[in-house]
Amino acid sequence: MSKLIAVLPGDGIGPEITAEAVKVLEALKKDHALDIEMEEATVGGAGYDQHGHPLPPETLDLAKKADAILLGAVGGYKWESLDISVRPEKGLLGLRAELKLFSNLRPAILYPQLADASTLKPEVVSGLDLMIVRELTGGIYFGQPRGIRLLDNGERQGYNTLVYAESEIERIARSAFDIAMKRDKRLCSVDKANVLECTELWREVVDHVAKDYPQVEVSHMYVDNAAMQLVRAPKQFDVMVTTNMFGDILSDCAAMLTGSIGMLPSASLDSNGKGMYEPIHGSAPDIAGKNIANPLATILSAAMMLRYSLGKEALADKIEAAVNRALDEGYRTGDIYTDGMKRVSTSAMGDAIVANL
Ligand code: NAD
Repeated sequence: MSKLIAVLPGDGIGPEITAEAVKVLEALKKDHALDIEMEEATVGGAGYDQHGHPLPPETLDLAKKADAILLGAVGGYKWESLDISVRPEKGLLGLRAELKLFSNLRPAILYPQLADASTLKPEVVSGLDLMIVRELTGGIYFGQPRGIRLLDNGERQGYNTLVYAESEIERIARSAFDIAMKRDKRLCSVDKANVLECTELWREVVDHVAKDYPQVEVSHMYVDNAAMQLVRAPKQFDVMVTTNMFGDILSDCAAMLTGSIGMLPSASLDSNGKGMYEPIHGSAPDIAGKNIANPLATILSAAMMLRYSLGKEALADKIEAAVNRALDEGYRTGDIYTDGMKRVSTSAMGDAIVANL
């Protein structure tokens, strides 16, 4: 049966980069029997402009009904003065919450052709292919009680609560093990079990879940060491799984190892493997409408969608291989351009990927 993809281009460069990912999916539909239907809706500032809300009800209905969601980016100067309740970002947060997307996948891949873009030495990062799985809907960012209170001595005290129920740890651990099974079958769980009881439980539950995945080699690492190892020798990792806050910090650090924001896709999954796929970068209002943005992060997000929500591993591989070949052929958008390469527009990069499928 045909799968339904909700396409939410959003704002800024969102429509331009999403159009290129759609072009690639259309090519797979035509030439490789990919059985999908795509339906578009507004989100973010575009949703506000058209329907008065960053997550219009028709968009949410489509997202709920769809098998997967492909999103561009939201936000821009135009909507910065709006009340916080209707700012573009609320559209994104609303989708994550409504669809219960608790598992955030952030790959950090460095194509060898772009090794010079990293601030680290090429030999440390060239060929890097790491996946960080971050718990997205629990932990200290949501734990109660929280706030700022007045102590008896008149001093103010800020407090937050780190909480994880066993079931929350178990579902993110399973999500990470499932992903490790599709990769190199090595999983590193990151915690601070020497200091925080909550993550002592985290470690225990991860070990318990590990019994169901005997093929996966499991290790545990304290977060401070993990941060150090990510910068020292990032290629030692295959999949890392961690809490909301640790994942927030480590995934940004890992993403920046690659030095190219326009290349990195992401996914947020629910417990049934339904997901929302989007580039990690924002709407880049400074370059919107100029046909110069890099569409590869969005095209690679479509590849993740095929792999993780639609079970089309071979077609996901095909997109990734096409990106590799286009880079080998020297195609570069401005953000990844270096001397001697072929500087191309957003749409020409999309064409180059289609030609290499
Ligand atoms: P940004 O990621 O949009 O841009 C940062 C810099 O990277 C800019 O110079 C931009 O031109 C460049 N850049 C980003 N994506 C690129 C691409 N594909 N190709 C070439 N260059 C690219 O971050 P920002 O400037 O901090 O935020 C701009 C807007 O995006 C804000 O409204 C912000 O709230 C929003 N935002 C949205 C998301 C999202 O939708 N997930 C994420 C981050 C920021």
